[in-house]
Amino acid sequence: KSAGKATWRMYQAERDASREMVNRLTWNERIQQALEHDGLVLYFQGIYEARTLEVAHLEALVRMKDSNNPGQIIPPGHFIPHAEKSGKILDIDRWVIGESIRLLARNPHMPPVAVNISGRSFDETSLPSYINDLLQEHEVRPERLMVELTETAAVSDMRDAQRFIEALRATGCTVCLDDFGAGFSSFAYLKHLKAHVLKIDGLFIRDLPRDHDSQVFVKGMAAIARDMGKQTVAEFVENEETLKMLVEFGVDMVQGYYLDKPTPDHPALQNSDYRLMAHR
Ligand code: C2E
Ligand code: MG
Ligand code: MG
Ligand code: MG
Repeated sequence: KSAGKATWRMYQAERDASREMVNRLTWNERIQQALEHDGLVLYFQGIYEARTLEVAHLEALVRMKDSNNPGQIIPPGHFIPHAEKSGKILDIDRWVIGESIRLLARNPHMPPVAVNISGRSFDETSLPSYINDLLQEHEVRPERLMVELTETAAVSDMRDAQRFIEALRATGCTVCLDDFGAGFSSFAYLKHLKAHVLKIDGLFIRDLPRDHDSQVFVKGMAAIARDMGKQTVAEFVENEETLKMLVEFGVDMVQGYYLDKPTPDHPALQNSDYRLMAHR
């Protein structure tokens, strides 16, 4: 400014600040680019019956191709928060749903797919009918789709969330509360939100063999879910000891690096009878 109005100098701090801005703008642009130009990819991770290790679902986890570094993949933790801020998450979630339903249509024998939907969508009254229309168009039975609802902010209107879940249930899809027990996903949800499945947050599973409180919580959750006629999934199963404990507690399904890691070419994509060999 001191140099006059029409001139400018590039200082380090300004350069950093403007690069920051460019980065911020770029995230939304990059997401938009990815949506328009085949820049999103789905990875799949198995959700297995805890006792038999037969595949029960494949969870679709979105990634972004890094257009600056060909061959590199950007994990959702990097772009989903930006997408949630800008609202682009609604488009990403619709893309994932569309891809998953088309995949199910092409592969009549693959296991059901679980997709993630941001809690931001709870007031998106058009989403359940979007899912319903796609299922009909592609003649995919709704039981082949599970919808995991992921909370990143407190539900601002429990009524909206309730209506949203009722509409989802009416499509015939399976409804799952993701990350249950952590963050904003609390016991009040159990009373108001009629999901079929509870996915117990990895926070309680990660250190299960060593943490007595986690054991109490998981055991209790499994019992509550059973009495409510709901199924349970444990995520972040990272070792055999944890798996054994979950079976003992009566948790129905398991998912985690001990079983497999998310991959774009999961073997169960070709085979709904896929079953992991008992890990001894
Ligand atoms: P999430 O739905 O709770 O998925 C579980 C995350 O934990 C995945 O990370 C998965 O790769 C990771 N994970 C699975 N097993 C283990 C394990 O044993 N140990 C550890 N340390 N991690 C494990 P990812 O793929 O990076 O996804 C992160 C989150 O991004 C997801 O959490 C979900 O909330 C969100 N997300 C992913 N795809 C979508 C999407 O299409 N739409 C929306 N709205 N959110 C998505
Ligand atoms: Mg999930
Ligand atoms: Mg989860
Ligand atoms: Mg999680």
